[in-house]
Amino acid sequence: MSKRIVILGRQGSGKGTQCAMLVEQLGIIHVSTGDMLRAAVAAGTELGQKADAIMKAGELVGDDIMNGIVAERLAEDDIMEHGVILDGFPRTTAQADALEQILADQGVELDMAINIDVPLEEVTARMMARGREDDTEESIARRLELYEEQTAPLLDWFADHDKLVIVDGVGTEDEVFARVSGVLI
Ligand code: AMP
Repeated sequence: MSKRIVILGRQGSGKGTQCAMLVEQLGIIHVSTGDMLRAAVAAGTELGQKADAIMKAGELVGDDIMNGIVAERLAEDDIMEHGVILDGFPRTTAQADALEQILADQGVELDMAINIDVPLEEVTARMMARGREDDTEESIARRLELYEEQTAPLLDWFADHDKLVIVDGVGTEDEVFARVSGVLI
């Protein structure tokens, strides 16, 4: 049965790697709304033109736009057949409500939201180790704080809907993948 999953995780949690491994090993389709928006910006579409300034400012693109993009993508055949791992959506509880409705309209529902849990100190250490120029301790702390603010209500939403699964994200990529695939099967 094709599954519909949301994946959550702080920057530096290894979420991207886990998504790639899920695609590779389970054939599930990875949908990143950030990637979709960046592609629209690069292609200069109407959506891209609207999204560009918003993304540069670090703000969120409006729920109506996002819900429309996701509804269209989730209706495509590849996802119907292979399932989807949603990355970067929902970002707000209004988007979570919309997702519930989009899936209900298709006669399906969300299987689970997986939170790849890595403690703040650990993700900070991982990001500092990358040594990127924009990765000062202060900027890392700020980005993580923003993520926390955005995500806390979503975690509550998924927990209230009995969809939240927390996976320990500390360990090797393979160890974490074994845990993630363990909750999926
Ligand atoms: P990401 O790659 O997920 O970090 O997304 C990059 C940027 O795209 C974000 O900072 C937002 O401006 C925008 N974006 C991506 N997904 C969403 C979403 N679900 N709702 C609103 N804005 C989004």
